[in-house]
Amino acid sequence: MQADYAVVTAKPKGTPSSIKVAAFVVSSWLPGNKDREKRNSYTIDRFKPKMGTAELPTAEVTYNGAVAYPVGPLEKGLANVVGVVLSLSRLHVGLGMAAGALRVAREASLYAQFRTAFGVPVSSFPLMMNQINDINQFAQRSAAGAFKVYSEYIHFGEKLIAGIRDLEKIGDIEDRKRRFRLRELVMLQKIVVADEAPAMIRMAISFFGGHGIMEDFLSLPRLHRDSMIMELWEGPRNVLLTQIHRDFQRVKDWYPADEFIRDLLVSTDKDIVEKYAAEFVRIISHESLLRNDIETLTLCRDWQKFSTKLFRAYQEQALAELDFNGKPIKFSRLLRKFKKEKL
Ligand SMILES: Cc1cc2nc3c(=O)[nH]c(=O)nc-3n(C[C@H](O)[C@H](O)[C@H](O)COP(=O)(O)OP(=O)(O)OC[C@H]3O[C@@H](n4cnc5c(N)ncnc54)[C@H](O)[C@@H]3O)c2cc1C
Repeated sequence: MQADYAVVTAKPKGTPSSIKVAAFVVSSWLPGNKDREKRNSYTIDRFKPKMGTAELPTAEVTYNGAVAYPVGPLEKGLANVVGVVLSLSRLHVGLGMAAGALRVAREASLYAQFRTAFGVPVSSFPLMMNQINDINQFAQRSAAGAFKVYSEYIHFGEKLIAGIRDLEKIGDIEDRKRRFRLRELVMLQKIVVADEAPAMIRMAISFFGGHGIMEDFLSLPRLHRDSMIMELWEGPRNVLLTQIHRDFQRVKDWYPADEFIRDLLVSTDKDIVEKYAAEFVRIISHESLLRNDIETLTLCRDWQKFSTKLFRAYQEQALAELDFNGKPIKFSRLLRKFKKEKL
């Protein structure tokens, strides 16, 4: 609600495309009106309570005579909003959650070194050591994966293509496949990172004991609330799993599912790649996720599990490619540094 521009969808009246949904940019203020706090003919009717999240206010809004500018052809509004606006937003979910994970992992690991029980830091108990490793691993692979996906977006000049039909207009088959990989990776990343983040942040909160809940000096509860929203907006998991499944059936003549896995996991162990390729082919060969029978129910469960395994393998590959050799962050070293700076 605090943005200066909104992308909205609406049906234009009295045009041949009035049955279709069009996309518009609506500025919050017409030129010169921001300082005067005079809005572009819209009212904010009601703010929405959202599990206590406050950074990104959501509201019910009525536009009444607001000036709006069409974006793209009027009859392609929905395709552009889903294929371009939502895809970009889904990329941001991946980057945002990875950035949050790095912070959460750092703060939680440092606190575990600071807090002592029975005279030793809680970070030295094996139960805690496993959890610290899990959180750090999650943060590192999420960040490496997010940058790898984003580098593909940069490769295409930070331009997205709206739908499969437009994608199929690309003559160069290798280029088209690479574009398709980016499209699917954006959805897979959104599903997997947003699904794992709330569980990881909840575990990090537990490192702080009671302080984890109380929010006296900690922002992990805030990040936890935000992560719950990431899971739902910009397309919930089931919807994206259905979309990916349908996409692969549409492109099977020029991009078989097993070839996609081989192209995606180029530097992963070959045995794993072939196992994943066979599993993916089996899942995609099932003609529809919308049938209500026992095979489809089982397959949906398999697809849900496999989607996580597949994107994790991609993240782990991204992390291995980085060959990151960072030293674990030490609370005692940081404390010495801060004390020295204070003196
Ligand atoms: C804080 C917040 C801000 C938002 N801001 C905006 C905004 O600025 N602009 C905007 O346009 N939208 C916005 N949204 C809407 C958001 O994109 C949708 O809420 C989200 O995509 C989920 O759609 P839905 O609410 O209709 O859920 P539904 O589609 O009703 O989903 C409900 C459940 O049904 C499942 N489901 C749905 N379809 C299928 C299917 N085919 N197969 C299997 N399962 C299915 C879903 O996975 C989910 O579990 C916002 C949402 C939130 C929470």
